Amino acid sequence: MPQYEFVCLDCKKPFEVFMSYTEYGEKEAQCPQCDGLEVQRIIRPIRVARSEESRLEDLADPSMLAGIEDDPKALGNMMRKMSNELGEDLGPEFDEVIDRLEKGQSPEDIEKDLPDLGLGDDDLGGM
Ligand SMILES: [Zn+2]
Repeated sequence: MPQYEFVCLDCKKPFEVFMSYTEYGEKEAQCPQCDGLEVQRIIRPIRVARSEESRLEDLADPSMLAGIEDDPKALGNMMRKMSNELGEDLGPEFDEVIDRLEKGQSPEDIEKDLPDLGLGDDDLGGM
């Protein structure tokens, strides 16, 4: 079950919630300290990106990477392989990105469609 990290905007305490992706869409996260509903999801794309990058250097040979950023399908394919290789659940967003890449969507467009992946998310969907 995915783990979601939040920080309470009232008491500034971080907390973690385990729930399924479906539940995440339906439930509202609530601060266990003060029952506040003003919470902000914490996403750590940088940590994932970094570990990806170092693994990438181990796994991939550089000639394979040449031009891959211009080829979303190849990139998505490689990310899926890496994710299998890592054996880690990188979360529904990661899968979503791979799906989109494999459909040929460019990373820039995906970023626009999924602002949640960015660092500056301060919005939990209109709360
Ligand atoms: Zn709180």
